[in-house]
Amino acid sequence: MSDILAILFASAGFDGATQGILGEGRRLADTLSCKLHALIIGPQNEPMNSSVAAIADRVIAVDQSEISEYDTEPYLCVLVAVCKQLSPRVALLANDTYSQELAPRLAHRLGGSAVGDVTELKSHLDALRVTRSVYGGKAAAIIELKRYPAVVWLRARAFAPAEMRTERVAQIEKFTLDLSGDFRACIIERKREASGATRLEDAQVIVSGGRGLGGPEPFEELRQLADAIGAQMGASRAACDAGWVPPSWQVGQTGKKVAPGLYIAVAISGASQHLAGISDAKVVAAINIDPDAPIFKRCRFGIVEDYRKVVPLLRETLSGTKK
Ligand SMILES: Cc1cc2nc3c(=O)[nH]c(=O)nc-3n(C[C@H](O)[C@H](O)[C@H](O)COP(=O)(O)OP(=O)(O)OC[C@H]3O[C@@H](n4cnc5c(N)ncnc54)[C@H](O)[C@@H]3O)c2cc1C
Repeated sequence: MSDILAILFASAGFDGATQGILGEGRRLADTLSCKLHALIIGPQNEPMNSSVAAIADRVIAVDQSEISEYDTEPYLCVLVAVCKQLSPRVALLANDTYSQELAPRLAHRLGGSAVGDVTELKSHLDALRVTRSVYGGKAAAIIELKRYPAVVWLRARAFAPAEMRTERVAQIEKFTLDLSGDFRACIIERKREASGATRLEDAQVIVSGGRGLGGPEPFEELRQLADAIGAQMGASRAACDAGWVPPSWQVGQTGKKVAPGLYIAVAISGASQHLAGISDAKVVAAINIDPDAPIFKRCRFGIVEDYRKVVPLLRETLSGTKK
């Protein structure tokens, strides 16, 4: 039991998170002089497979009807079967909703350990040490894992991608598994939510709204601003909990961890739990009526003003429609 396994979802493609997992997996495998295996699960796409094969030592693809869409139990069955076959010391996943659901279950079923939102991984003597942020990003905890396999979901965009080899490209091995088992739970209905082309975690620009907007309608105005600058929409937990926008928009400690080049926070106070989700944002800009709002301590650009005055002006200026 010594190798590293990168668990990748075909539906994510070769996105920033996938590249981050492979980058860190490659680095760790090289440090430990072991192999990096990659499991690609779900309906396969050729460009992604080729890119992964240029980084990992071995690529396993599992693509069958039972896993054509994400469903926790069949996905877990695949992960457990592949892990039992490969016996990795470390299994890496990204910081997405699926991984957060799968990681602790996988660790439990394999008798290993699980830790999430990891920003650094190091081998120390014979053990694995990981760093993760705690107390809403105010402190960092260094945790030594004692039980293996260690199932770790990474704040994947915090890791540098690996270089792609041009020689010794790995073969893609196709596995077919018996997934006819009697699962503990199954999805009986799916309700699709309209979402942007880019995952929030991968968005380069995000316009996020908070409770100070006062209701769902002003989010429409924010949407027009977002459309004008090619941004994705986000929100604080208060706005999501109020039912103004879908829960998948939530940014923060218990929501999405985002890493855009520009994050525009509109009528968001900047509670520590919200800031925990934007610690990897390069530039934060805020619009808030309260000059003492904590968001102003985190932002590079701040406007102390009612958003109703600022947002239309910004939209017109940035979309070039201002007369
Ligand atoms: C365990 C735990 C986990 C949590 N996880 C998260 C998380 O993941 N994400 C998250 O966001 N929160 C999270 N929270 C909640 C967090 O503590 C805050 O309650 C929440 O972030 C507040 O959201 P808000 O900033 O939208 O609202 P508020 O704190 O109410 O702030 C509203 C802001 O709008 C401003 N405002 C009002 N009117 C206007 C106007 N007309 N123009 C401009 N500005 C205006 C106000 O000055 C104020 O600063 C969590 C809390 C707990 C306990």
